[in-house]
Amino acid sequence: MPELMRARRAFVMTPEQPMIDDAAIITDKGVILEIGRFADLGPVFSGPVNDLGDVTLAPGLINAHSHLELCHLRGRTVPDKGFMVWVEDLLRQPIFELPDDALADACRELQRTGTVMVADIATRFPERMAGFLEESGFFFVIFTEAIGERVPEGGFIPSRDYELGVGAVAGHSLYTTHTDVLRAAKAESSSRNLPFSIHLAEHEDEVAIMAGEPSPFLDLLQGRGRLLDFEPPCKAPVQQAHELGLLDESTLCVHCVKVSEDDIEIIRRSGASVCLCPRSNEFIGVGRAPWEAIRAAGINVCLGTDSLASNHDLDLWNEASYFKERYQGDLSMEDALAMMTRNPARVFGVGNRLGTLEPGKAAVWSIVPDSFQELFD
Ligand SMILES: [Zn+2]
Repeated sequence: MPELMRARRAFVMTPEQPMIDDAAIITDKGVILEIGRFADLGPVFSGPVNDLGDVTLAPGLINAHSHLELCHLRGRTVPDKGFMVWVEDLLRQPIFELPDDALADACRELQRTGTVMVADIATRFPERMAGFLEESGFFFVIFTEAIGERVPEGGFIPSRDYELGVGAVAGHSLYTTHTDVLRAAKAESSSRNLPFSIHLAEHEDEVAIMAGEPSPFLDLLQGRGRLLDFEPPCKAPVQQAHELGLLDESTLCVHCVKVSEDDIEIIRRSGASVCLCPRSNEFIGVGRAPWEAIRAAGINVCLGTDSLASNHDLDLWNEASYFKERYQGDLSMEDALAMMTRNPARVFGVGNRLGTLEPGKAAVWSIVPDSFQELFD
C-alpha cells in the first residue's frame, strides 16, 4: 500500500527545483511514486502518513571511493607521515584477515549516516564483498582491483549478477599496475559498459616515479619484487592516464592531489569524473587537491571516504563538512550534496535509481544533520 512521508524540506536535487519546502514523498514497494509539496499531495492522499517532523531530507548518499576490506584497521595505521610510511605500515597490518564483525560494524556506520551506495575497491575478496553488500541492502559497485603484471585469462570481473549492484574493475595505480593490465582492464570495462576507477596523482612519489626521478617509494616496491622492469613514461600521471586511453566519461579518477592546470584541462576534456578524498589525503599527509580549480573547470566531482586505514570514519557528512570548512570560495549546500548524490550516480550509471529524489527512483534518502546545515547559514 502506498505511504506518504512528510518532512520540513527535501533536497530532491533535480536541476529545475533542487529543494522543496514542506515536502511529501509518496512511496510504494520501495519506489518513489510522487514527490512534491505536502500542501498539494497531502489532501488528495488516502493512505498512511508518516510525518518525519522537522528534518531535511536528501537523496541517499553515495560513497564514491571506499576499501571496506580494510575496515578492521580503524585506528591502527600511522597518520601524517606521508604515503611511503603509511604503505609500509599498512603492509605490516593483517590486511588479509577481515573479520565479519568489523565489516558488519562498517555497514551499520554507513547506514546510520545515510549512505545507500558504495563504490568499493576490492583487492582480495570481491565476491565476498559484493555478496555482503547485497545482503545488507546496499547499492554498490564492487571494483575488483587490477594490480601487478598479469591479465587474468577469464577477465577481471567475476560474472555474477546482482540485484543491487555490479562487479567492475579498477586499476590500482599507474605505477603498481602494468600498462598492458591497465589497458585490458579499461577495455573490459568499456566493452561491458561499466565504470572504471583508478587512484590517480595521489602523492609526490607517484609524480616522481612517473617522471623517472629518484623515489624511495619505487625502491621500496622494487625491494618487494615489484616493478622490476618499470620504464618511467616521463610524463605527469594524468597525461600518462590519458595517453593509455584510460580517461573517458565512465572513468573515476580518485584523489587528483598532484594535478596542474593542464592536467585538470585533460580530465575536463575527457569527460572523466574526479573523486576527492580530502580527509584521507590529510590523514596520509599527501597534501590537498586543488578542489576549487577542479570544480571551476566544470568536472563532475564526487566525494569518497577512502578506507578506514586512512580515515577516522565512513561518515560522508563528516567528509563533506571537512571539505566545506576548508573550501575557498562559494559552495552551496546543493553543490556539496551533489558530490555525494547526483554526481556519483552519473559516473556509476545508476541515475535511473539513485542520485535525486524523483518518481520512479528507489525510495531511499538521507537525513541532513543539523551540524552540516549550519555550515551553510
Ligand atoms: Zn583508495
